[in-house]
Amino acid sequence: MKPVICGDHIAEELYSDRFLYKNLFEETPDKFISAPYILIVSVDYHQAAALLHQIRSSNIPFLYLKSVFLIDCGIAEIDYIKKGLDKTFKKNEFDENSLDFFSHYSEEINKKIKQIPGSEKPSDNNIAIKVLRYMYTRNSSLEPYKSSIHYLGYTYPVTDFFFEKLNNNLVKLISFLEDHQLISGEFVDRIFSCTQCNSAFLNFREICTECKSPNIEEQQVIHHFRCAYVGPEKDFIREDKLVCPKCKRTLKLVGNDYEKPSDIYSCNNCGNKFQEPDIITECYNCSKKNLPQHLLHPTVKSYKLEELASSVVLYGMNNLFQHDIEKNFPHIKYGSFLKTLETEIERIRRFKLFKSTLCLIKFKNLDKIYLSQGIKANLFIQELSDIIHNVLRRSDLITLYNETIFIILMTHTEIKNAQQAFTRVKENIDKLSEKNLSDKLNFIKINTVEITGVKTSKEIMDELLQNAFH
Ligand SMILES: [Zn+2]
Ligand SMILES: [Zn+2]
Ligand SMILES: [Zn+2]
Repeated sequence: MKPVICGDHIAEELYSDRFLYKNLFEETPDKFISAPYILIVSVDYHQAAALLHQIRSSNIPFLYLKSVFLIDCGIAEIDYIKKGLDKTFKKNEFDENSLDFFSHYSEEINKKIKQIPGSEKPSDNNIAIKVLRYMYTRNSSLEPYKSSIHYLGYTYPVTDFFFEKLNNNLVKLISFLEDHQLISGEFVDRIFSCTQCNSAFLNFREICTECKSPNIEEQQVIHHFRCAYVGPEKDFIREDKLVCPKCKRTLKLVGNDYEKPSDIYSCNNCGNKFQEPDIITECYNCSKKNLPQHLLHPTVKSYKLEELASSVVLYGMNNLFQHDIEKNFPHIKYGSFLKTLETEIERIRRFKLFKSTLCLIKFKNLDKIYLSQGIKANLFIQELSDIIHNVLRRSDLITLYNETIFIILMTHTEIKNAQQAFTRVKENIDKLSEKNLSDKLNFIKINTVEITGVKTSKEIMDELLQNAFH
């Protein structure tokens, strides 16, 4: 497979024999997915950024994680795009060695992408997991980058290309990853930001202590020793001399005749004179006014992957859910659960005194909870578990079939009672999601099967798991 080259006409002319020339905006991505790497050649910053964005915003791991290089035709000095690329080369440095470098580098990255299950299919709609997978395949950290286009005042260029558009989700994304101990941060800087929108673009405004007008003036004050008169400097100025307005003497030597003790402010609006003006900040983005002491004062950090992240990288967000939910649900191993189920079937068959019910709960749309809730995802999962716990009794047994499917054995419970209980569960979960999420999502799917002593454990499990996967 040939690597893909894209960009402007220079790309086509110069390197077409070694590369497959493609224009990303028009082609289906198959050729890009199978190419070992992608080389962008462009003289236009916006074109190069748009191409990179098109690659990184895909949801196919083999495309968005692909090694992307840039042959700079005069744009690589733009540091920002450089940070989102694997490597940039100057056009005059580009030779056989560069080609060797591309192949070698991308081979390493591609090996790592192959470890991800389903990496050739569209699967990653979640930016959090894309960022983790990017960091994992590059073995790299996330470095903050000072930026005047991003209203936070800084950004992580790598993540920007994953987003559909620049937005506030960056704060949510980072806090989510940090809160779940998937990444850990190291201090780089501290900034002030708006309490309403997180913008770092704030106008620090000096205002009158009385009428709060910003129309104030700073004045130098002169103290004439001889007559003890104190007044603004402008009242002393007579052509090129300083003359005391009270005693009319000329002032000559500072320290000897007079001193300049401290500045005072005077308000052009109300005439008030004062030594220290009040300070108020106004956000350029949302116009919210704040006292400086009330501003947010977040730490800007660089981040590296934590150990837990590699299992999320390789097995997805559901793995994280399992981790969260295991904390909230005491459960037994699937093998032991099956043995207990067989004993239960046997007891029902022999005594014919009661019936029990097997119940399946499948959780769906978990990645949406995680991304929309950010650091609150944990709380959401906890409330979700509480709702389910409320209908369970101490004697009920729980097991995890896989990371999103729970199976519960409700002993001495007829199917209609179990179904009633879980209708309540569903209603309460709907309420929970309405309260917390903007769109109403279906989070659970429930199946119930009665244990009558007639069917075997395998037959019951098959019936229960039917339809559970879609
Ligand atoms: Zn005033
Ligand atoms: Zn005087
Ligand atoms: Zn604001």
